[in-house]
Amino acid sequence: MAVNDLVDEREERQKKAFEQWKVSDVLTEKSKAERLKALAERRAHMPTERIDDSLLYAGSAMHFYCISCGHAAGTLPESYITPLEICRECEALKKLGWLE
Ligand SMILES: [Zn+2]
Repeated sequence: MAVNDLVDEREERQKKAFEQWKVSDVLTEKSKAERLKALAERRAHMPTERIDDSLLYAGSAMHFYCISCGHAAGTLPESYITPLEICRECEALKKLGWLE
């Protein structure tokens, strides 16, 4: 069997596993309710203090906060091009069309 066939087979298996995960977890109503509840909680408890990048040393990583829930979205090197606007949890909700 050629190496490419093995790679294709592995990708196919991973795709199937991902589809099953989506159906069993993400796309159930219970999961949706839980995720929206977690989002509401994140919004209700936004961090009051943010890291002020202007006070950090030159070359420090830049800190970004989620436009949806206000929590840390992540950091990027000072030379970033596209800023992080949304945290991973909100990004997942957005992709599923659940972000309100
Ligand atoms: Zn968020």
